[in-house]
Amino acid sequence: MSVDRILKGLSRFQKTVYPQHRDLFQKLALGQRPEALFITCADSRIDPCMLTQTKPGDLFISRVIGNIVPPYPDAIGGVSATIEYAVGVLGVVDIIVCGHTDCGVMKGVLNPEPLEPLTSVTAWLNYAQPARQAVLHNKTRPQEQSELEFLLAVTERNVIQQLGNLRTHPSVAARLEQGDLRLHGWVYDLGEGAVSAYNAGRDAFVALQTPVTRV
Ligand SMILES: [Zn+2]
Repeated sequence: MSVDRILKGLSRFQKTVYPQHRDLFQKLALGQRPEALFITCADSRIDPCMLTQTKPGDLFISRVIGNIVPPYPDAIGGVSATIEYAVGVLGVVDIIVCGHTDCGVMKGVLNPEPLEPLTSVTAWLNYAQPARQAVLHNKTRPQEQSELEFLLAVTERNVIQQLGNLRTHPSVAARLEQGDLRLHGWVYDLGEGAVSAYNAGRDAFVALQTPVTRV
């Protein structure tokens, strides 16, 4: 895809899409009040708004490879600042950490050697290594586990790991203490369009039937 295709899309947006939603965009121009922070992988195959059928203004979105949230005060940067702003200023009431199938980052966690020359990527992947370790040391892990099943198990555990890291951020911890913030862990199956959500009581991911279930 060349930039020409992107420019044609922009032109179509301005001529066709924008006029249909002019009221919404003009209202949004005055301010935003998103209800949720959606943290997901930068993977091009994920479209959070299409997946959740939300409109501009509904989701505050943080895209970062591996949907990784460094624990506070580690790696203060874009992800931490986005969380603090969403929770402390915008007052979102839900945070969704959404991993996905066939994630290149999770594959890199399982097989880091080819990525070693990429020092920033390698350092970032270290935040997901505890997920791999947790799966390897899980006593209930099936003896026979295919590579795909192992990848999915690490992807799920990584989401749980990042939910734990989220709780270390003071702005998140304070709102959780107040009881007006909910955390959700999802894994999106790209090929099936299905989403499973982490159920803390069962310590397992279960197919999501309703828009958002409480962790
Ligand atoms: Zn990914």
